[in-house]
Amino acid sequence: MTTLPKNDKLLLTTLATCLLWLAGNPPWFDSQHCAAVEYLTGIQWPEPPVVTPGSHGSPPSDAIVLLGEKQGLSAWEGGENWKVQAGVATVGKGPIRTKQEFGDCQLHIEWSSPKPAHGHGQDRGNSGIFFMGTYEIQVLDSYQAKTYFDGQAGGIYKQTPPLVNAMRPPGEWNVYDIVWAAPRFAEDGSLQSPATITALHNGVLILNHFTLLGDTPYHRPPEYRQHAPQGPISLQDHGHPVRYRNIWIREIKPLIGKRVSEPYRRDGNKKLPAK
Ligand code: MG
Repeated sequence: MTTLPKNDKLLLTTLATCLLWLAGNPPWFDSQHCAAVEYLTGIQWPEPPVVTPGSHGSPPSDAIVLLGEKQGLSAWEGGENWKVQAGVATVGKGPIRTKQEFGDCQLHIEWSSPKPAHGHGQDRGNSGIFFMGTYEIQVLDSYQAKTYFDGQAGGIYKQTPPLVNAMRPPGEWNVYDIVWAAPRFAEDGSLQSPATITALHNGVLILNHFTLLGDTPYHRPPEYRQHAPQGPISLQDHGHPVRYRNIWIREIKPLIGKRVSEPYRRDGNKKLPAK
C-alpha cells in the first residue's frame, strides 16, 4: 500500500472536514427561517404605501414641504416678517408658525448659526423649533460655545441635554431629523401618554426616544396642559439672525392590521397552536 506524503494527508483531512461541515450546514439552508413549520400572527396587514425617497436631504414623495426654493414661507403665518431668499429664511420679527397643524410627525429641518458668531451662552445664535407650538428643541450656536447643557443645541429646553454635541461651526448648515410622538390626553384633560422625541443632529443620534416631562418654558417646571391632538410647528425669534432652509415634514400614520384569527403555526395544511 502506498502511503501519501504528509502534506497530501493534511490536505485530504482538511477537505474531508470541510465537506462534513457543509453537509451539516449547507449554505442554502437557513435553519431559522426555512423550517417546515411557519408561525403566523393571524393579523392581515395592508400593504405599506410606496414612498420614493429623496436624496441628500431632499423631501421624499409623501412629504409636505414647509420651506423650499419654490414655496418660500408661504406655508407659515408670520412669514412676511422674515427675510426669504432662494429658499433660505432668516429669523426676523416675531415667531412664525405653520398654517397646517401636525400631531405625530417626522421633521427634517436645516439651520445655520450666524457668522461671525456674536454673544455668549443663550445669547448666541438662539432660535428654536416648537412642536405643537409648545415643546421646544433648542437651536443655538453650541460650536465650541458653552451654556447650561439642557439649553444647548439639540436639548429639550430645561429637560435634557442632547446625548452628544454634533454641532457644525457658525455659517455651516446643521440638519435635524426628528421623530415626534404627540402627547395624548383623556377627555377630562388628564395625560394619557406623554410626548416622545427622537432626533438626529447631522446624522448623529442626540435624543433617543426621550419622554418629555411637559412643556419647555424658561421660568417654571415643565407641565402638561391639555391641547388639541394637532398643533403647528413654530420657529422662534430670539433676536438672532439664524437661517433655515429645506424644511419638510411627514405625518406619521400607523399601519393598522386586522386580526383575522388567533396566532397559529402552520405545518402543511395543519394548524397547530401558536406555542
Ligand atoms: Mg431657543
